[in-house]
Amino acid sequence: MNCEHDDEVLSVRGLRKTYGKLTAVDGIDLAVRRGEIFGLLGANGAGKSTTVECALGVKKRDAGTVSLLGHDPERERKRVFARVGVQFQATRFQDKLRVGEACGTTAALYPKTRDWRELLERFGLGGMVHRGIADLSGGERQKLAVLLAVLPEPEVLFLDELTTGLDPVSRREMWSFLKGLRAEGVTVVLTSHYMEEVEYLCDRVAILKNGKIALSGSPAELIASEAGSGAKNLDDVFVSAMNQAEYSFAEASR
Ligand code: ATP
Repeated sequence: MNCEHDDEVLSVRGLRKTYGKLTAVDGIDLAVRRGEIFGLLGANGAGKSTTVECALGVKKRDAGTVSLLGHDPERERKRVFARVGVQFQATRFQDKLRVGEACGTTAALYPKTRDWRELLERFGLGGMVHRGIADLSGGERQKLAVLLAVLPEPEVLFLDELTTGLDPVSRREMWSFLKGLRAEGVTVVLTSHYMEEVEYLCDRVAILKNGKIALSGSPAELIASEAGSGAKNLDDVFVSAMNQAEYSFAEASR
């Protein structure tokens, strides 16, 4: 992908990250534009979370450059901190913390935040302000993690498997919430294993395999490009990409 657009919120070039002998991310280029929902897809272990963590500067990259809101997140974390919301996969909470305390203490970190009581209502957690986080169900905890990520009114929101563990109704509510955020101009970078979700939400996607980008473009472009192999939806595109031994890099039309 060419990364020279003014409206780019995240620009990643030649990103490489190793864990000992394992190369988890192997020369990735990404460009995420302001106001889009961008999906990072790939099989388990493909390098999605590592890419996100390097993009946020919470993991140190071995090579490449990252520009998040115009700053290198590794060196200038403070400059982007209040402008970026993050929900990590399996967010860890302090066991004894209550829901209201988690919201209150997170809100206190930022100069300006959304109304967390209103968000609790919106996410169906309104009656759980005094409940210990340890006593929440997996889906409730997942919603709380997303709520905390959007609390500081971020310009960019990173969501790692945001709807894993959510029931079908909650999942659709989350989708509608995210579309509302996009309408406000918020940029969203998400990882997901649910192709239906990605097809519904994402403006553009990149499919990773073994730490490299196999395919990228809008869901419609990818489906059209794989139609010759019988692809009817993004699920088919994904499976077909995973089955190919070698990948041809499909340049996203930009
Ligand atoms: P999933 O869909 O399963 O969440 P992913 O695409 O997010 O996978 P990553 O979590 O980025 O994948 O992991 C990429 C590779 O790096 C995997 O093989 C994983 O085992 C490995 N890995 C991730 N974190 C570490 C670590 N801290 N130490 C060693 N290896 C790691």
